[in-house]
Amino acid sequence: MAFILMKPYKLIRSRRRTIALMIAADATLVVRAPAHTPLDTIEQFVGKNAGWIRRTLARLRQKPRARKKEFVSGEEFLFLGEPRPLEVQSGALVPLHLRGCFILDEKQRCRGRALFIAWYKKEAKEIIAARVEWWARRFGLAYNSVNITCANRRWGSCAPNDRLNFSWRLVMAPVAVIDYVVVHELAHIPHKNHSRRFWDKVKMMYPDYKNAQTWLRENEGMLNL
Ligand SMILES: [Zn+2]
Repeated sequence: MAFILMKPYKLIRSRRRTIALMIAADATLVVRAPAHTPLDTIEQFVGKNAGWIRRTLARLRQKPRARKKEFVSGEEFLFLGEPRPLEVQSGALVPLHLRGCFILDEKQRCRGRALFIAWYKKEAKEIIAARVEWWARRFGLAYNSVNITCANRRWGSCAPNDRLNFSWRLVMAPVAVIDYVVVHELAHIPHKNHSRRFWDKVKMMYPDYKNAQTWLRENEGMLNL
């Protein structure tokens, strides 16, 4: 009996051997299946997991999301996990700077988003590069370089040549969370996979990593403008 789905889903067939379900950040259901599994079997599998799908979607709806910014006084912008209010001032000396609160020159308001992204990127480069250096030295790991990206939910990555990439959005998160992502990518230098040995390494370097993972899962929607 084919299970008739209430919601459309995205089916990705590949050489994998089992069926797996995932809820993407935009609340779409993604089904990964082997190349030749009949559609009936896939839909039955989805049907059997309807409870899990419902619970996961409900959790996703509860997650906080950043309001689309309008760059007006009183709006709050996250920096290192702290919300900082914005003040739009006329005749500010620089287009955007942080002095307790963010100060944005009124004439630059139309460029608000670009100015904030440039500001976050610059801070990300300094703060994350310093954290990488500190953790790498502490555990004797040699990396190639630190690069800042615009990735939306890929907080960090480690290329085969040990070049490390981090999203600028990460500087919106608390330092403890930044540190977890840094440690995660550094642990990929000896282990280019997510094997048991990789996670043992992460745990040895950063025992509290699970709390940081939970924070990221629950607050990822906030790390945005
Ligand atoms: Zn990884």
